[in-house]
Amino acid sequence: MKNEQLKKLYSKIRTIPDFPMPGIQFKDFTPLLADPETLSMTSELLKKPYDGLKIDIVAGLESRGFLLGPRLAQDLNAGFIPVRKSGKLPAETFAEEYELEYGVDSLEVHKDALSKGANVIIHDDLIATGGTAMACARLIEKLGGNIIAFSFIMHIDSLKGLELLEGKSYTCHTLLSV
Ligand code: AMP
Repeated sequence: MKNEQLKKLYSKIRTIPDFPMPGIQFKDFTPLLADPETLSMTSELLKKPYDGLKIDIVAGLESRGFLLGPRLAQDLNAGFIPVRKSGKLPAETFAEEYELEYGVDSLEVHKDALSKGANVIIHDDLIATGGTAMACARLIEKLGGNIIAFSFIMHIDSLKGLELLEGKSYTCHTLLSV
């Protein structure tokens, strides 16, 4: 049953070559979001690993982590906090630099975004090299958050982001290898 569901989800991921720059195979999940069946299936599967766990906060990564992150938070009776690119958050922030598959950037979170000891899930659409996820982990830990797991819809196996996180003893949940 789960395999059938995953096959359906996989069929809704398309690869756009050379976006946003030459050499990048962009994994676009907007077709999955546009289909009511795969949209609700994805939310169901994303929340499953946390049944029975007390989750306080889902931290969503800008920008595609904002699409299903708040729904995941609601499903877990948790709150949602945005982790944003530099200069977007209005109150006082902490910042961490990270390397992308295509460039260098920095992430920010409000200094008062969560309480010390809060149980946190970090959510994004996709993990590639893991640089973004690691920067987010550093931010959450700077705030005193307790990272329960990382939640992704997709991972690019060849770029070894999951290995990076698991090598640091983080738990990762991902639905599709793309
Ligand atoms: P990384 O830090 O290398 O793990 O990159 C992950 C972040 O960049 C996520 O926020 C993704 O949405 C985005 N990203 C990186 N590579 C791709 C790709 N090939 N297709 C779609 N999004 C990507």
